[in-house]
Amino acid sequence: MSYQALARKWRPRRFSELVGQEHVIRALTHALDSGRLHHALLFTGTRGVGKTTIARIFAKSLNCEKGPTSQPCGECSACTEIDAGRFVDLLERGRYKVYLIDEVHMLTKNAFNALLKILEEPPPHVKFLLATTDPQKLLVTVLSRCIKFNLKRLTPEQIIGQMQHILGAEGIAYDEEGIEVLARAADGSLRDGLSLLDQAIAHGGGALHAHEVHAMLGTVERAKVRVLLEILASGDGAALLEEIERIGSFAPDFAQVLDELAGLLHRVQLIQLIPAASAADDADLLGLAGRVSATDVQLWYQMVVTGRRDLPLAPTPRVGFEMALLRMLAFVPATSAGAAHPRPVPVPAVVAAPRVVSASSAHVPAVPAPAAHTRHAPSSAVPSERPLPPPSAQSRVAPTIHAASGHTTDEWAGLIERAELRGPVGQLARQASLIAIDDGTVRLALKPAHEHLAVAPMLTLLEQRLGAALGREIKVKVERDTVGIETPAEQRVRADNVRQQAAEESVRSDPFVQSVIDTFGARVIPESVRPIES
Ligand SMILES: [Zn+2]
Repeated sequence: MSYQALARKWRPRRFSELVGQEHVIRALTHALDSGRLHHALLFTGTRGVGKTTIARIFAKSLNCEKGPTSQPCGECSACTEIDAGRFVDLLERGRYKVYLIDEVHMLTKNAFNALLKILEEPPPHVKFLLATTDPQKLLVTVLSRCIKFNLKRLTPEQIIGQMQHILGAEGIAYDEEGIEVLARAADGSLRDGLSLLDQAIAHGGGALHAHEVHAMLGTVERAKVRVLLEILASGDGAALLEEIERIGSFAPDFAQVLDELAGLLHRVQLIQLIPAASAADDADLLGLAGRVSATDVQLWYQMVVTGRRDLPLAPTPRVGFEMALLRMLAFVPATSAGAAHPRPVPVPAVVAAPRVVSASSAHVPAVPAPAAHTRHAPSSAVPSERPLPPPSAQSRVAPTIHAASGHTTDEWAGLIERAELRGPVGQLARQASLIAIDDGTVRLALKPAHEHLAVAPMLTLLEQRLGAALGREIKVKVERDTVGIETPAEQRVRADNVRQQAAEESVRSDPFVQSVIDTFGARVIPESVRPIES
C-alpha cells in the first residue's frame, strides 16, 4: 500500500471535521441552511489554515445531490468527485458552477478587470470562492463585492489536539514533548504541522519521539535547556561552558534554545509570584524557583530576550548564545555557589546592584520581598521570613510533636480539600503532614525529598488559603519529617493501589467479561482497568 501523506489523508471532508475557524463554519452553515448564498466569498488567512479545504467542502455542500446542505452526504457523485480532488471548477454536472480561485491576489490587472465585470453582474448558479494570503493586494472594488471570511492561524493547542487525534487513530506511538515541538514549529499552519509530522514519523522509524523531533528540527530538548538554568543557578562557570559545548556540538538553532530558555524563565517566575496561575506540570521547576530570586529571573529573562534579538549581530550564533549565557552567569550573585545545597525556603532577595545593566534593574517589577540582601547571611535571614529550623533540631522534635498532635492524615486531607489547594500549592500540601494547629500557626512537616517544594511564594499562598479555610489569620511553619509520617499524597497512592487491585479483580471475575473472553478470545489489559471515582 502506498503511503499517503497525513495532510492529504486527514483532510477534513465535512465542516464538523475542521479544526478551528468556528466563526467561519457557523456563518457558512447558516448561509447554506437558510439558502441565502452570496455569489462571491473571499477567504483570507495565512497558508495551511484551511482556506481551500473550506472552499472544497462548501462546493460539496452546494452540489451534493441531497443538498444544498451544510452536511453533504459524501457519497453522491458530486461529493465523491470533489473529494477525489477533481478540480472544483471542472465539475460540469453540478447544480452550481463553483469557481475556486486560489491566491487571487496574483491575478493580472486584466484578469482582475474581467473578474470584476463578472462579479458586478454574476450569472445565476455561479459561485466564486476566492482565497488569498494577501487581501491588501486586492482591488477595493473586488473586496466590496465579496463576503469576507478571515481565517485565523491555529493555536499550538489546536494543532497538538489534531496531531494527537491522528496519531491515536493511526496507532503511532508518540510523546508529548515531540508533538509540542512540532506544533510550535508549524507556526499556526496545520498543513505545515502535518507535513512535519510525516517527516518526523519517517525520521523516527514509525514513531514520534522528542529526541528525534529535536534532531530533525535542529532544536534542543527542554530537559537540556533546564540543565543550563540549573547550572547557571549554581554559578558554576566551568560546568556552563561544558554544557554549551555539548549543546553546540549538535549545531542547533540557537535562537530556539534562547526561546526555550525564555519560556522556562517565564514559568519559573509564575511559580514564584503567582503560584495559583502556574501549571500543574511545573513541578520540575519548583527547585529552580526556590533557588533563584524573583528579580534574578527578571534580569535573566531580559538577557535571554536581548541575546535572542542580538543574535544576528554576533560574529556567529554560537558566540552570541554563549555571550548571552555568560552575561547571565555574571549576574548570579557570587554566594549562590552554595546553591548545590539549596535552602528549602529561599528568601526572594533583591540582587546586589548589577554591574553592567544597572539601568535595567529599574524596570524590574517590584517583588513582594524584604528589600534586604540576605544571600550573604542565610542563617541570619530576616526574622519575618519562614526559614526551616536547622535539620538537626527538627529530627529531635518531630516525632514527639507528631505523637502529641493527634492530627490524622484524613483530617489534613480534609483541610486541603476545604482550602481548595490545587496545582503546585496543592502538591506542596499533599506532600506534607500536619503536625499541629495552635496559636495561629499551622505546623507542617516535609520529608527531605520534598523540602524543595516549600518555596516562599507557595508558603504565602498556603497561608492565605489555609487562613481562609480556618477563618483566621495563620502562619505556616515547615519542619523536617524524619520519621516518615504518612502524607495525603502517600495515602492516596496506597488507596489507589488497593482500589486498582479490587477493580482488576472485579473485572476478571465478571461473568459478562468471562463470556466475552470465551466467545471472542478477548483478553483483559490490566492497565486499561480504572476504578470508578466514588
Ligand atoms: Zn453528496
